[in-house]
Amino acid sequence: EPYIPKFVEVNYSDGSNDPKWSSSNFPWEKKLEENNKKVFGNHSFRPNQREVINATMSGYDVFVLMPTGGGKSLTYQLPALICPGITLVISPLVSLIQDQIMHLLQANIPAAYLSANMDWSEQQEILRELCSDYCRYKLLYVTPEKVAKSDALLRNLESLNARGMLARIVIDEAHCVSQWGHDFRPDYKELGILKKKFEKTPVLALTATATASVKEDVVQALGLVNCIIFRQSFNRPNLWYAVIPKTKKCLDDIDTFIKENHFDECGIIYCLSRNDCEKVAEKLQQCGHKAAFYHGNMEATQRAFVQRQWSKDEVNIICATVAFGMGINKPDVRFVIHHSLPKSIEGYHQECGRAGRDGARSSCVLYYSYSDYIRVKHMLVQGQGEQSSWTSGYNRGNTANSDGIFEKNTENLLEWVSYCENNVDCRRFLQLVHFGEKFDSGNCRKTCDNCAKMKTLVEKDVTVIAKQLVELVKMTGQKYSSSHILEVYRGSMSQVVKKHRHESVSLHGAGKHLAKEEASRILRHLVIKDYLTEEVKKSDVYGSVSSVLKVTTVYIFTFSHPKLSLRCRFISPAKASKVSKSDATPAKGILQPYNKLSPPVDTPASAAPKINVELS
Ligand code: ADP
Ligand code: MG
Ligand code: ZN
Repeated sequence: EPYIPKFVEVNYSDGSNDPKWSSSNFPWEKKLEENNKKVFGNHSFRPNQREVINATMSGYDVFVLMPTGGGKSLTYQLPALICPGITLVISPLVSLIQDQIMHLLQANIPAAYLSANMDWSEQQEILRELCSDYCRYKLLYVTPEKVAKSDALLRNLESLNARGMLARIVIDEAHCVSQWGHDFRPDYKELGILKKKFEKTPVLALTATATASVKEDVVQALGLVNCIIFRQSFNRPNLWYAVIPKTKKCLDDIDTFIKENHFDECGIIYCLSRNDCEKVAEKLQQCGHKAAFYHGNMEATQRAFVQRQWSKDEVNIICATVAFGMGINKPDVRFVIHHSLPKSIEGYHQECGRAGRDGARSSCVLYYSYSDYIRVKHMLVQGQGEQSSWTSGYNRGNTANSDGIFEKNTENLLEWVSYCENNVDCRRFLQLVHFGEKFDSGNCRKTCDNCAKMKTLVEKDVTVIAKQLVELVKMTGQKYSSSHILEVYRGSMSQVVKKHRHESVSLHGAGKHLAKEEASRILRHLVIKDYLTEEVKKSDVYGSVSSVLKVTTVYIFTFSHPKLSLRCRFISPAKASKVSKSDATPAKGILQPYNKLSPPVDTPASAAPKINVELS
């Protein structure tokens, strides 16, 4: 029967701020230093590595939040090497495990793995080796479904444990336990059984996803007690972030961007659907790039082939769904482009994290359009789990509406719209707030599109406009799209608007003094704040999606309150236009190359890749 973890009171302690763990007085200190150099070929430790190793080797349960590429593997591979016994590592993907084993064997560290799709005889052989008194393996990797479903494995682990040979249990990519994470895997939920069976064996949980709710879920589900937490800044100073309006010629923009900034360099383009992956790859091939696609509809062998081509630099650019990349260990990925909206801020951070692992400057560019939001929202409503990278992963073993997952997805999505629509605040700040980290945008040094703008902000009270917009949605019967509402509000005299003019008499043209972008930003802000909602439906047999604005109960209960006001920050138009002149930017939507010779970090503003589109 499934093991249901009790809600236990957990004593956390913050390891990152405890000098004890960085001390070099631990008895294993010399061995650590030696093996880190000799076996792993590292000159030193990266932030928190030594601390985590000391804590786990002291026998505590440890939870590590470290950004992608931070070096989490070493924190269990090095202890595995110098402790007697075997370290059990649970890791979500076979491809990831194979990659790790390859590296370990190259370093002469004996390691093996068990997965459900291996030959039974092969599995038997590994299990037999585990039973032997002189088991040569230092690390045993397993996929989570092995733990959940294989009694043989559990029996073997019990026997190891009884002989004092189960040194440590490692849960890699531990956020997969949590439904609030971006990569929920139901089998991870069963892992609580390990702490229950092997109470005294230290557990080391590792992840690059660090929201408070994910952390709480992981600690509870795994049943960790007196857990020491290590976390470090999730800021990646060498990554350059930008959000770019997505137009009809988005693929040309991507081609230009790559040619001008990263020609012949290695990159990933994340796409929403399998179809998009193939389309984007084909277009880039036509433009002369070495591109390939990768998605869940392909045969496993085909996927492995593409991944190999990519690691050998026979292909530079992979157009992929989010299925590609977890545990990808290529240090010189120079750009990550999102062709459409990512699943969540955590997911985005992790996907971008695959760029620039070698520390050299890399670009993270997101192409955003409000209509993508409508498209994705429709997918969520339909629960088309099999067709989009958005819903797969969440929906395995769940229906879209169970356990609030649908609501959580919708909420994540709105957070995204908010991130993309924001053309004012530092992108690093906006991302890191999400991980509970307060980032001083002064430290961005103009390495995100919003900080790179020379801008003067003006804050405006938009309460009256907001109320008029909502009123307009109401009085026209809550049956129009946002673009129609905006047209009416700005006084359009188009045929359609004229025909329905009687519905909106008093407010037709009430916003004619507003720029189109300004009015639309306020309207979208109302959607982000959940005062208005986009109700989406398929509008015809060809599957195109339309949406209708509705007023929500949130509006009725809060915003209609006479004292409530709504403020928005805008870029002062005078300054904004002056900047784009002094930068001598050409036609809208084109990206300018940046000077590659400039140093990677501490980037001067002029060296950043530029976009010349001001949203307001
Ligand atoms: P994570 O699991 O946190 O994403 P990895 O463990 O895969 O990161 O490590 C990322 C890269 O950093 C690997 O190529 C690894 O060899 C390298 N690395 C890890 N620790 C060190 C170190 N102390 N010094 C130099 N390189 C390191
Ligand atoms: Mg890892
Ligand atoms: Zn910034």
